[in-house]
Amino acid sequence: MEYFLNDLQKAVKQMARTIAEEKILPVRAELDETEEFPWAIMKYLADTDLFGVWLPEEYGGLSGGCLELCLVVEELSRVCLGVATSYAVSSLGSFTLLEYGSEELKRKYLPDIASGRKLAAFAVTEAEAGSDIGAIKTTATRTNGGYLLNGTKQFITNGGEAEIYTIIALTDKAKGPRGASAFLVEKDTPGFSFGRKEKKMGIRASTTRELVFEDCFVPEGNIIGREGMGFITTIRLFDISRPGIGAEAVGVAQGALEAALDYAKKRIQFGHPIISFQAVQHMLANMATDIEAARALVYATARTVDSGVRRNIGLESAMCKVFASDVAMRVTTDAVQIFGGVGYMRDYPVEKMMRDAKITQIYEGTNQVLRNVIASELRKKKAF
Ligand SMILES: Cc1cc2nc3c(=O)[nH]c(=O)nc-3n(C[C@H](O)[C@H](O)[C@H](O)COP(=O)(O)OP(=O)(O)OC[C@H]3O[C@@H](n4cnc5c(N)ncnc54)[C@H](O)[C@@H]3O)c2cc1C
Repeated sequence: MEYFLNDLQKAVKQMARTIAEEKILPVRAELDETEEFPWAIMKYLADTDLFGVWLPEEYGGLSGGCLELCLVVEELSRVCLGVATSYAVSSLGSFTLLEYGSEELKRKYLPDIASGRKLAAFAVTEAEAGSDIGAIKTTATRTNGGYLLNGTKQFITNGGEAEIYTIIALTDKAKGPRGASAFLVEKDTPGFSFGRKEKKMGIRASTTRELVFEDCFVPEGNIIGREGMGFITTIRLFDISRPGIGAEAVGVAQGALEAALDYAKKRIQFGHPIISFQAVQHMLANMATDIEAARALVYATARTVDSGVRRNIGLESAMCKVFASDVAMRVTTDAVQIFGGVGYMRDYPVEKMMRDAKITQIYEGTNQVLRNVIASELRKKKAF
């Protein structure tokens, strides 16, 4: 399919592919085994300016947008979804600041994110507030010149590795959904520490940790937007970040398709390469068709975000994340099937891809919750 990419888009896609093949591919199995954070690869991505793709030039970025980010994420995910997640979450940790932060805050933090000198992270989830983010308990209590944060965030990607955190906390419990606010918190702030690092099924090259706040003082200048806007900014954040999860899903599925195709041409059974059997051919045909449909939906959604023509893109961004992640799970499972017994072994890459793909159906809104979002948007529609 021709997606009519411009010069910047082609360049960042090619750069990401080169890094993925030359730097990530040789170490991906080791990263999966050791669960070590891929700092060396983050450095290559920083050296090639890829952390700046989604940020404006005035803050040191390349002035791309959601589509450019998706292209990079897709290429990295084609080789390793864990590394791709570590990279992509810096955008999750900076979008709210970019859209709602004061000029002073943006000038202070965005250039370090754009250069890759510092990673960013975003934290709303808590032990009792996953899909139901309205149930968060972390508080931000007003004090002289700022706020005191208290509470624990769970499952935070880049936790402990990132220097810059966007934290959602309650400034007024009584106000319900309008009682939360977003704050910018630096890693070494007193009262801010890290809990346990999770041991995960997949994306093991990414770090997932608890964040702990105990009377952590945050100056009032570090509020992002105004008091009470925390959930509004979070909903907006996920609307523009979900195409990135769609791109992760397309990338991991593409990697699995290529591996399965290659194996099917080489594996001989009954005197023939298994690709000569129609059952295998049809699996490959379905995999390729599903991936292209997912890619088209992800790119179209990313382009809608970048055009700025419509602010409410909750419907499309939920659709592209749900569709692409379901495709990723189907395609990676079928890739394991095409490999047969060896597909189940760690010597081959497809079992890792299957384990990695699962997360795309869970984070940034589970696919069940996002189907609720799609249905609710459909109910509101008066015309198509
Ligand atoms: C590896 C990893 C990285 C993560 N990174 C981050 C991060 O960087 N920052 C962050 O803030 N969070 C992060 N999360 C949290 C993630 O977004 C949540 O795990 C996710 O939103 C689901 O919440 P939960 O785990 O509490 O599941 P629950 O909400 O407890 O859901 C359990 C099950 O119930 C279903 N369910 C719940 N409510 C409904 C409903 N209304 N209708 C239908 N079904 C429903 C769900 O679909 C799911 O199947 C991460 C999670 C993981 C696993």
